[in-house]
Amino acid sequence: MTQRELFLRFLGQTSEFPLMLEIVKAKDIFLYGKDGKRYIDLISGISVSNVGHRHPKVIAAIRNQISKYLHLMVYGEFVQAPQTKLAQALVKTLPAHLDNVFLVNSGSEAVEGALKLAKRYSGKTKIISCKNAYHGSTHGALSVGGDENFKRSFRPLLPDVFQMEFGNEAALAIIDEKTACVLLEPIQAEAGVRLPTLAYMKALRKKCDETGTLLIFDEIQTGFGRTGKFWGFEHYDIRPDMLVCAKGMGGGMPIGAFIAPQKIMKMLTFNPILGHISTFGGHPVSAAASLACLHVILDEKLHETAEAKGELFKALLKDEWIKEVRGKGLMLAAEFENFDVLKKVIDKAISLGVLTDWFLFCDNAMRIAPPLTISEQQIRKSCKIILQAIQDVKNEIAVG
Ligand code: PMP
Repeated sequence: MTQRELFLRFLGQTSEFPLMLEIVKAKDIFLYGKDGKRYIDLISGISVSNVGHRHPKVIAAIRNQISKYLHLMVYGEFVQAPQTKLAQALVKTLPAHLDNVFLVNSGSEAVEGALKLAKRYSGKTKIISCKNAYHGSTHGALSVGGDENFKRSFRPLLPDVFQMEFGNEAALAIIDEKTACVLLEPIQAEAGVRLPTLAYMKALRKKCDETGTLLIFDEIQTGFGRTGKFWGFEHYDIRPDMLVCAKGMGGGMPIGAFIAPQKIMKMLTFNPILGHISTFGGHPVSAAASLACLHVILDEKLHETAEAKGELFKALLKDEWIKEVRGKGLMLAAEFENFDVLKKVIDKAISLGVLTDWFLFCDNAMRIAPPLTISEQQIRKSCKIILQAIQDVKNEIAVG
């Protein structure tokens, strides 16, 4: 059987139309197909490979760690230097009150941990999130997801969970004294890259303060330099009470975290003891990779250069078919008229060697989220190929 046949026969599928690109190698911003074809990766699988595929410093950290130990013991029991060093480095990137890190395996698990912690600390159960938000696929994370289509078949989900309209100040009225927490992305990713106003974010913070509600930011896509700052919330003059991260955090390895003040986090140690535990959370190899990744971003100032790189994409992607390119840093969405034309352009771009896709809740916008290491010349080349793809599709339509 071929690899493609094995894939379809033995792996659980997530849709009836998988992309099925057979990738045999990846390096920097490139993916290499079985046929030797090279693709520029404008997705970073998704918002993960912020430092590029197989960054030498990440690979060196992994090699160093595997020469010492792999898994030892359930997270939280043994003192493991990859975890302690990572936690210390993460805290250094954050405001002083966010000083305690709980390491987990994924974004969904980070969300689960943060929601549990908010309930445990506040003694309240009401949770508010936003329409068109994506926070993960496990039951708790799905409960706070903002799209009914994805939830309907899995009900009953968590009770006492409500979705408000993102960016709408009037909708903040739903936050009250009974609310344990609000979970929100500083820039909505899967909604098609939606930015709230500064005034909205300030009003959100104020409402949470007034009602004693914990404000949790989901930085799973916006974190680790993606938006032109190390953390997405740094674009606004406010701070969260807790934060969750994953994806770009691991430099290509699986890891996530929920981060909170120590006085909140300690609630997971009693009543009950072991309030959240995880066998593989903060796996030493992932933690070592994550620390290397964090240093690469800061040392190479990838978060700072992402801003100008994003602006270059915006300047170059000009065509009557592109309605707008919105976003911050290298978290961008190029909007087309509808899914039909966008899908044709995406298929064409892939055949021309640029990999991109669309968003979970926005199927008329092209995702542009390359590794932050992408060079100016590579951006120019990517845009040229996208514009070429648009032209090719126009020509094909004209020919009929
Ligand atoms: N939050 C956001 C904003 C995400 O984009 C994702 C993943 N797409 C998640 C949470 C869930 O992360 P994971 O897939 O690692 O569980």
